[in-house]
Amino acid sequence: MSKLKLATAWLDGCSGCHMSFLDMDERLLELAEFVDLVYSPLVDLKDFPDQVDITLVEGAVASVDDEAKIKKIRAHTKMLIAIGDCAITGNVPSMRNPIGPEPILDRAYIENATLQPQIPCVVVPKLLKVVRPVHEFVEVDVFLPGCPPSADTFHTALTAIISGEPLDIPALTRFGA
Ligand code: SF4
Repeated sequence: MSKLKLATAWLDGCSGCHMSFLDMDERLLELAEFVDLVYSPLVDLKDFPDQVDITLVEGAVASVDDEAKIKKIRAHTKMLIAIGDCAITGNVPSMRNPIGPEPILDRAYIENATLQPQIPCVVVPKLLKVVRPVHEFVEVDVFLPGCPPSADTFHTALTAIISGEPLDIPALTRFGA
């Protein structure tokens, strides 16, 4: 049996969900018998591949780059899994929504700058007016809540998905877990 192609992507999140994924520790080696990690912050590939079987997405959509990235990922992924509360609800990144992006940029790049205070216009992507969850931009196939989902949750969920077994997510994890 050929291996499934697995990707992970990082939008506006703290990387805690990826850290929890890594916390599967030696169980990652078991998974590696069934999947190839073809794109991820954990590997050094820059472009999202054409055909991916499963993509795990951490984080909310907060910038024009995030929006373009998730749309490209969706177009090239069979099963898209939103991992963690930021991807599913907006969670922490969406706390800026009531005040909008301008005060955040001012605080970071003007008020707290000791040298050359200025709002960056290159490299740093333009922020969207409001941070929104992944499913408001693209179709999501599986929602795996938690902040972050535990390593056990990742392992149980991925094992079930790979083997085509039913997945009881409420028995596995919950928002804020
Ligand atoms: S869900 Fe929690 S752990 Fe995951 S990116 Fe958001 S804040 Fe970090």
